[in-house]
Amino acid sequence: MAAGQGGRQRLVEGSGGNARASRAWKGASPTEIHRFPCRARFPARIGFFIFGPTMTLHDKFGRQITDLRISVTDRCNFRCVYCRSADPENYREHEEILSWGELERLARIFAHLGIQKMRITGGEPLVRDGAEAFLTKLRDLGVPDISMTTNGHLLAARVPSLIAAGLHRINISLDSLDPIKFEKITRTRSYDSVMRGIDAVQDSKLAPAKINAVLVRGFNEDEVEAFAAFARERGVIMRFIEFMPLDADRHWSRDLMVPAEEVYRRIHAQWPLVQIPHAKSETARKYRFADGAPGEIGLIAPVTQPFCGHCSRIRLTADGKVRTCLFSKDDHDLRGLLRNGATDADIEERIRALMDEKEKGHRINEPGFAPPSRTMVFIGG
Ligand code: SAM
Repeated sequence: MAAGQGGRQRLVEGSGGNARASRAWKGASPTEIHRFPCRARFPARIGFFIFGPTMTLHDKFGRQITDLRISVTDRCNFRCVYCRSADPENYREHEEILSWGELERLARIFAHLGIQKMRITGGEPLVRDGAEAFLTKLRDLGVPDISMTTNGHLLAARVPSLIAAGLHRINISLDSLDPIKFEKITRTRSYDSVMRGIDAVQDSKLAPAKINAVLVRGFNEDEVEAFAAFARERGVIMRFIEFMPLDADRHWSRDLMVPAEEVYRRIHAQWPLVQIPHAKSETARKYRFADGAPGEIGLIAPVTQPFCGHCSRIRLTADGKVRTCLFSKDDHDLRGLLRNGATDADIEERIRALMDEKEKGHRINEPGFAPPSRTMVFIGG
């Protein structure tokens, strides 16, 4: 299916994880704020995009919104224990998912509103046929920073076409360096294909790859040092993400989460780390190795060291809802507007208005916190 045509997501071959999905994960072994009087402004920079002046988006706390994560599908070929359920599929109907044409129209509107970074994600973005054509549309819009998050299973053969389509940066999820443990966490046997994907990225102009690992105590927290060694040997950016209460099986607890501070302490004890400056809106605290070894460490601590005060992100789900926070209680629907004849100006107005809904923070650490009804795979990480 070409981009801009039709509404159905067509899937390409997955990893065969379904056969192994019956094993419930419980059963797997152990354990500066700028204040603006209004929400959208025309900056001095005029005419960046060919279709007119670009605006900027701000929320009521003065945070500028520059990053959009676009989930292009709710389907995934992995069933990571900290994300998806092992239960049978509960995907949305194809008609409920935005067509490539609808996604492209929204991307154009968001770009006009001043979004500078767009990341395509999912679900698993590479299982939906047409990802490259969509990336080309983003490039043609002049989006300055185009990235993707993938589990890497279908990546190796696609690296050249993704680069040709305009991809600037890539994040690959890898939760274990041990194939057996990898299978236990992802409930797939895709370790080799993911490693081939990482190799292909490292041999390309997308290098260095950013490798994301979610640490879950009792599953992979014993691999912190091995992951750091992997960063040093392969020259990749190894990022450790704290497990968040967004898993479908609702097993999250603080005991299962490995705090970023613990990860820092363990790596620093073996290979002293030196902090690298980072932009305030960046999620990761970044470190290089003091002995000059290649590679980098990133620590993403949304639970123990929330970075909401500088959040510049919003998300568009595959079924056309805007989420102003990963932990939002409500979605804001754009699909209805798209399908009921709204003009671009109507949609822009709606998006500007809903910036007022962006939450001050995620409240995970407040009494009475309840996780959102949508889990990560239906939000887009
Ligand atoms: N399928 C792609 C992948 O695996 O990278 C993209 C979607 S996945 C939902 C995006 C990111 O969210 C991955 O890096 C994944 O590890 C992370 N993620 C999923 N569930 C999470 C959770 N409960 N806590 C923290 N990170 C999570």
